[in-house]
Amino acid sequence: MNEEEKAAAPDDGDREFITESIRRLRSEREDMLFISFPGDEKSSGGCLAAGRGFFHINSHGGAEPCPVSAFSDINVKDTSLRAAIDSGLFAALRDGRILNEDHSGGCVLYEKKDQVEAIMKHLSV
Ligand code: SF4
Repeated sequence: MNEEEKAAAPDDGDREFITESIRRLRSEREDMLFISFPGDEKSSGGCLAAGRGFFHINSHGGAEPCPVSAFSDINVKDTSLRAAIDSGLFAALRDGRILNEDHSGGCVLYEKKDQVEAIMKHLSV
């Protein structure tokens, strides 16, 4: 992570603010479902990206692990959602230890961007 990225990333105070805001919204609006990411990973046993809990489809059809991890090796214009969830990238991320690694409440795939890029390179995408 370079200095510019570090400056833009939420710090502990920002994370506490988000956590408290989500807690307040959940108590005020019990009829609604609020999902916070980054934020809910700790209480969910780790990162929920890459089909572990959800995945993201970008505006071009690329299936990405998460909106904040813009890597894709498969396009839903060419395949089914079931095939997309079993893509090489998603499978490698789920099979590896990255998603379950302890982290400080930030984004594990952002922090481990080099490892994600290495997987993409190995897949030759
Ligand atoms: S990729 Fe980052 S923001 Fe997305 S679910 Fe995983 S840890 Fe959270």
